[in-house]
Amino acid sequence: MADPGATWLARVAAAVGPAHVLTDPADVEPYLVDWRGRYKGRARAVVRPGSTEELSALVRVAAGARIPLVPQGGNTGLVGGATPDGDGEALVVSLSRMRRVREIDVANATLTVEAGLTLAEVQQAAAAEGLLFPLSLASEGSCTIGGNLSTNAGGTAVLRYGNARELVLGLEVVLPDGQVLGALRGLRKDNTGYDLKQLFLGAEGTLGIVTAAVLKLYPLPRSRATALVAVPDVQAAVGLLGDLRSALADRLTGFELMSRFSLDISRRHHPDLPDPLPGHAWYVLVQADDPRAGSSVGDDLETALGAAAERGLLADATLAQSDAQRARLWALRENISEGQRREGPNIKHDIALPVSSIPAFLPQAERALLAALPGSRLVIFGHLGDGNLHYNLSAPEGAGAAAFMEHAGMVNRIVHDFVHAFHGSISAEHGIGQLKREELPRYKSAVELDLMRRIKRAIDPHGIMNPGKVV
Ligand SMILES: Cc1cc2nc3c(=O)[nH]c(=O)nc-3n(C[C@H](O)[C@H](O)[C@H](O)COP(=O)(O)OP(=O)(O)OC[C@H]3O[C@@H](n4cnc5c(N)ncnc54)[C@H](O)[C@@H]3O)c2cc1C
Repeated sequence: MADPGATWLARVAAAVGPAHVLTDPADVEPYLVDWRGRYKGRARAVVRPGSTEELSALVRVAAGARIPLVPQGGNTGLVGGATPDGDGEALVVSLSRMRRVREIDVANATLTVEAGLTLAEVQQAAAAEGLLFPLSLASEGSCTIGGNLSTNAGGTAVLRYGNARELVLGLEVVLPDGQVLGALRGLRKDNTGYDLKQLFLGAEGTLGIVTAAVLKLYPLPRSRATALVAVPDVQAAVGLLGDLRSALADRLTGFELMSRFSLDISRRHHPDLPDPLPGHAWYVLVQADDPRAGSSVGDDLETALGAAAERGLLADATLAQSDAQRARLWALRENISEGQRREGPNIKHDIALPVSSIPAFLPQAERALLAALPGSRLVIFGHLGDGNLHYNLSAPEGAGAAAFMEHAGMVNRIVHDFVHAFHGSISAEHGIGQLKREELPRYKSAVELDLMRRIKRAIDPHGIMNPGKVV
């Protein structure tokens, strides 16, 4: 008897071209493991459509045969969302061939791109016209705009420009039955009923496959100011944020908190990086930008820091005097994750809290964690301006990896229960994926979960779109 799998796979191959259906295990392997190497799945094949029409045709075949589809962009996600499960039934749908800049409309300040362009390529396309696409992540050389929109990515400029969700005006999506939702409108005002594109932004590929988007552009910054500030404590950092907001308004683009231990591990593995303000417990990296060349943003930042010092909100500060110094200050922040990885096993959390609650949350969570796991080392850093902390626990010095990681469930429970008690979120920017799916029901209300499941069932009644993720 003919293998029915072979029949539908042949139809998929007809839809996208046989060369773009990968089945050789060596070709498929890189698509089956997540970036951190935490999840490993199996798949029947990896399919690489070259256009929305090809993708629509392949989804129609998959829908008819009830084949699960796992969308994948740059595979840099941190929650296992782009990794298929272990049953080997799914097709991984890679957007890597859909890489066209469809349109740039300078007067409308919009850019229409396909989902498979990397974030860095999107930024470059905007910059080539003298404009800014402000989303910026450490993974921007590899992650794709389709993945960014599907995870509602954050990054280092959310304070000024918002998450990925806020940078989208229009969207094109292939739905789980193969229909194309063509909503590529570059409108800043459009009150014609439900804003359907919002359903797909941050949906982690569970409702459809994003194929293109109309993105908002901004003026490129032409004057930049960067300061590393030592603060007496986190309460003072929150006070400083308020002061700088008042002084700089929307020229304040970044406000990153770093504990001393975070800086230590960043520098331990990159000893060439500077340590201009040694001997303090907490630091903030401040970024301010202005679209006008030769603007006073640097002087304004310095004046505001002086006034904050008089109010006791900072202990010391240094301003970058050149682009090279700016890059080195940012490198301190950007190398924390890598430093922590090299430091040994760690348990990570990507949490959001009201900024005003963070000074009370930190000591309470720390006391509970150190009581449960004495000797653990807290690595606390992140986007304080957005209320988003990367709140991580490194193993006690000399502890075995496996023994430490056995406590991950307990540690997550402690941290996330505190986050919940302070009206926060267990996922600020990385998403739910596989990693936090089981935890979600503990922290989302029954009404929210029920609505999410009803939306999922309405749009994807056969459950073929990225099954096992989010809900
Ligand atoms: C070094 C490093 C730094 C990072 N820094 C940040 C950070 O600062 N802020 C932040 O938010 N994230 C960060 N991330 C996480 C990651 O880069 C983002 O989540 C990114 O948006 C994922 O994009 P991707 O193309 O790699 O998506 P993938 O990993 O391929 O997929 C992520 C999810 O989106 C779905 N998906 C992908 N493409 C599509 C599509 N076209 N249509 C529908 N669904 C799709 C997948 O199924 C999956 O659920 C970082 C990751 C690394 C490795």
